[in-house]
Formats: sequence, structure tokens, C-alpha cells
Amino acid sequence: MDPNETRRYHIKTFGCQMNAYESGRVAALLEKHNFTPAESAESADIILLNTCSVRQKAADKIYSELGRLKKLKLTNPRLLIGVGGCLAQHESDKLLKQFSCIDLIYGTQALARLPALVRAATQGKRVLDVEPDAARTMYARLPRSVIVRGQTGAFVSIMQGCNNYCTYCIVPYVRGPEWSRTPEDVLNEARQLIDAGVREITLLGQNVNSYGKTLSPPIAFNALLHRLNKLAGLERLRFITSHPRDLSDGLIDCFAKLDKLCEHIHLPLQSGSDRILLAMNRSYTGGQYIRLIEKLRAARPDISITSDIIVGFPGETERDFESTREAIARIRFDDLFIFHYTDRAGTRACSLPDKIAYSTRVQRLKELNTLQRTISRQRNELLVGTSQAVLFETPSSRSGACLAGRTRSNKVVNCPAQHSMLGRTARVLIHKAGIHSLSGTLLHEQENL
Ligand code: SF4
Repeated sequence: MDPNETRRYHIKTFGCQMNAYESGRVAALLEKHNFTPAESAESADIILLNTCSVRQKAADKIYSELGRLKKLKLTNPRLLIGVGGCLAQHESDKLLKQFSCIDLIYGTQALARLPALVRAATQGKRVLDVEPDAARTMYARLPRSVIVRGQTGAFVSIMQGCNNYCTYCIVPYVRGPEWSRTPEDVLNEARQLIDAGVREITLLGQNVNSYGKTLSPPIAFNALLHRLNKLAGLERLRFITSHPRDLSDGLIDCFAKLDKLCEHIHLPLQSGSDRILLAMNRSYTGGQYIRLIEKLRAARPDISITSDIIVGFPGETERDFESTREAIARIRFDDLFIFHYTDRAGTRACSLPDKIAYSTRVQRLKELNTLQRTISRQRNELLVGTSQAVLFETPSSRSGACLAGRTRSNKVVNCPAQHSMLGRTARVLIHKAGIHSLSGTLLHEQENL
């Protein structure tokens, strides 16, 4: 890149919070190298797609977006198109073969190398870098994400990769083996974000509960939480995602002891059938999962618990499905993300026999969604009449002078309030509960919530 030339970038992000976080850090890196944000893809000099390969649907969307960009490049031959993230890591050859419009492919561990890669692509070379980050310093070499005015929350990735090899999941193949950032590196990024005005930090990792095991000396995830909880200026601390197998008593205890740690956990169950959990290589039984829920609720009775479920895993019988339905009815999650199983090439589940018919998978998904919608509404109705601390984040999509914010338990609350309340926390009296959100009226802004 010519350091004196200002060029415009556009990043389109697919998939999970980890991708959103990494796009933010890539944007900051590009801005350090004289790029400015473009108003749209059409007005950009470089377009980066940050891709996801967890589900076929996401991959299909990316291929169709590339079809659109191919046409855009015909009208602007100087446009550079880069593809990064999980799909780029997993299907680089196919992407390069199918789309001559792609100038650059960068893998999940190549982010800090992007300036040099973009420079090479600018010189007319077709660039491919899906190499690992051997020194494990990728995040430390990226500038912190740009924080826009009024932004209350930010993500901080604390680890990369996964060693669990759940049989349906492509992540260990595209993100590589698990490694953790040092606590100093994590704390440093958190401090920078707080100094820039962030009030709430969500720690990210494919399996945050095994944070620190690869460090020398090792450190437990709960010890990192204790250190973050002491940061002045931080109001709320969250984390995603947890694997039930690694949910330690020390971590559960954090929910009872740490005032900034919000009372919400996302703990994927995936199935209520022990037979299917074994076939998924999840390393716990339904009974062990329920005992974890009991411990969490004992440590923090008002904790909200959300989860992921996959229906129609290969070999799932009516009896297995019934076990999942029973588990959901017994646990009563606050919310659930339910998916029907789809094959991902390269995973072990892909070659399993006894695939479940599409119509059965969809039917099972619908049944569980109906059950969970009733439970979610009932769980939310328990909050009607209570006063909740709400951190206001955005103007609400509802009509009227409304803002939207979240409770500590991660429930969305719509509330009539002035725009000046954005970025502030106030107590809200909840008077109405829906399936996915609550409504209330402002009580008062409080210093000590
Ligand atoms: S824990 Fe399992 S589902 Fe989660 S990223 Fe690792 S392999 Fe995938």
C-alpha cells in the first residue's frame, strides 16, 4: 500500500461474535494504514468478506455475495476483493478456482499480516495466506477496535481454536488447536476499551472455560475473571461460549462472588439424549448437565441460562428427541438457539449413517421452538413488576421515544427514555413481557446499581 494514499474499505461480516470482533480489529488495522471506511461496498476500493463456515446456509450466502461482487468488479476493475475467516481457511482452493474476482484469501490466523498481504494484492498478485500464527501473537499485534461514540459494549477474544472435536463441528479444523492470550494482553485490551468509553466487555472464545490451559504457567479462567472484575470503569463483564465439560466449581463460584460478572450464561446442551451426546463427542451426559444447572442456580438464583440445541443429528430416534424435549421442559432455559443438523464436509458426523430426513428435522425443530417460546415468555413474565438495572445501548426499533438496553441477565428491554440516556444505566420497572423482550418505564438513573 502507498502509505500516502487514502483508500476506502468495506468489511462485510458473516457468522458469530468472534467474526464481528475480528472485523473490528481488522478495520482498526486498515485505518492505521491510511484506509477510511467506505459508505457502501459500491464506493469502496477494497472489500473484505469475513466469512463463516459453521452452517451450510452461511456458506451459501457467501458464495452468492461473491457472485454479486464479481459483477461489481466488472464496473470497477481497480476494486480489490479479499476473503477471510473460516470459509476462506477451509475452502480457499475452491474459492480461488470458482471466483477469478478474488484478489486475496487470508485465513483465520493471518489477520496481523493483512497490511503486507493487501500491499501484495495491490501490485496485481493473487495472494493466499492460510498459514498458522506460530508465535500466537496475532491479537497482540492488532490495534484495538475502533469505538464509536455512544458504544457501550465491546468484545475481547481471550483464546483461539478448539481441541474438542465435537463430531458435527468444523471449528477445530478452521480455527486450529486451542491457544490462549496471556492475561496481561487481555487486561491491556480491556483497559484500552474502557478508556475509550466502553462499559461492558464480553470475553470471547470457542470454549472460554478452558482458557489458560495452554499458557505457561497455566491460569484458570476464573482467575482471569477475578482480575478483570477489579478494573476501574468496567460496569459489566460477560463471556461466551462455555463447554459444560470444563465448567468448574471455581467458575460457578464467580457468579456468586464477582459483582461485575453479569448473571447470564450460555451453556450449549445440544441434545438431551446420552446416546446422541456420545455420538456428538460432547463428553458429558444429560444428568451431568442438569447438575451443573442446579449448581449455577444455587450460586446465583436469578441467573439466566441460554443454550444451543441441534435436532436431527444422524441416528436421532424419536426416543432421543423425546429426551431432548424432556430436558428442555425440566431445565426451563431463558432462551434457546435451536438448529437442525446439516452436514459439514470434513467433520466426522458427515460420514455417519442414519441421516434424518429433512422433513423430520424441520418438524422436530418446530416442536422445540413452540415449547421454548412458551417457556421464554413465562420466564420473562417472572420479571414483570420487578425493577431491573438496564444499560441503554441503542434507539429501539419500537415506535415512540424509546431506547433499547439490556438487563444484567441479558434480556432486551424497550423503554421510553431520552436519547441522553444512551450509554447510561438506569433502573426500569418492567411492566410487560414478550417472548424475546421486555418493556418498562424508567424509574431513575442510579449511581450504584
Ligand atoms: S466445543 Fe465443540 S462445538 Fe464448540 S467450537 Fe469446539 S468443536 Fe465446535
